[in-house]
Amino acid sequence: MKTFKSIAYASAGRPQQVGDGFVGQSMIPSNRFEDFSPFLLLDHHGPMQVKPSRTPKGVDEHPHRGIETVTVVFEGALQHRDSAGNNGVIFAGDVQWMSAASGLVHEEKHELNFSRQGGTLDFIQLWVNLPRAHKMEKPRYQELASSQIPVVALNENTQLRVISGALEGINGPALTYSSVLLADVIVSGESWFELQLPQNQNVAIHVVMGEIMLNKTEKLANKHIAKLSQAGEWIEIKTEKEGARFLILGGEAINEPIVSYGPFVMNTQAEIRQTIEDYQSGKMGFLEAIEYES
Ligand code: MN
Repeated sequence: MKTFKSIAYASAGRPQQVGDGFVGQSMIPSNRFEDFSPFLLLDHHGPMQVKPSRTPKGVDEHPHRGIETVTVVFEGALQHRDSAGNNGVIFAGDVQWMSAASGLVHEEKHELNFSRQGGTLDFIQLWVNLPRAHKMEKPRYQELASSQIPVVALNENTQLRVISGALEGINGPALTYSSVLLADVIVSGESWFELQLPQNQNVAIHVVMGEIMLNKTEKLANKHIAKLSQAGEWIEIKTEKEGARFLILGGEAINEPIVSYGPFVMNTQAEIRQTIEDYQSGKMGFLEAIEYES
């Protein structure tokens, strides 16, 4: 017999702004982030209207260590560069999976042409914790174009994209250091379907657009995140004609101590002190300044 997961709790995001170009909401409740392990943070920036600017806005150079940052763009375009030598442009549908691991500095901006034209920007960024054994790996950069992400039709109105982990027998292309499921479900109208989710893992749903009905009675509104029960294996989803879009986040909890300081997430205070020293002494590298034509 099928057993169903229910919503353990759901919450709206907290308004926040990052840098001078990303306005949105921070979704994972800060006092309950252990319920979402290995995910530490989910910021949903947008949808926001970007006014045309010659100089791209966003977040200036800053470091990370001990985590991965995962960016999924729904609308608009972003550009990225880091001190490990990676440059990337992320358009709608694309995913950037950056393992900062032992550390780098990067900047995250509106993509140059998008910045000059202006338009709607809508994306999320996740922080994925790394297990202790992998926090000091070399940085790794995966740019997954939309065309590289497998997509399956669950019915005529519903498409499932698997970015990492496995769902419906499909494997996502992103390499991960622990078990991480990330899937994107796009529903263009009325729909009904069931999904079999991992057992004994943390599983959550973030509603990107529209609203969904879970298991016939549990409504989950736009820009709400729901932590699902550990018990049960399946979810049933129903949407109305307006459609919806949501992310499924899952993973094995990393049961290790967390000591964080801004963009650094380690296991001990001593490691944080060392991290700050390494950053301040330039061990995470630098970015060359860019002159934008005015
Ligand atoms: Mn960053």
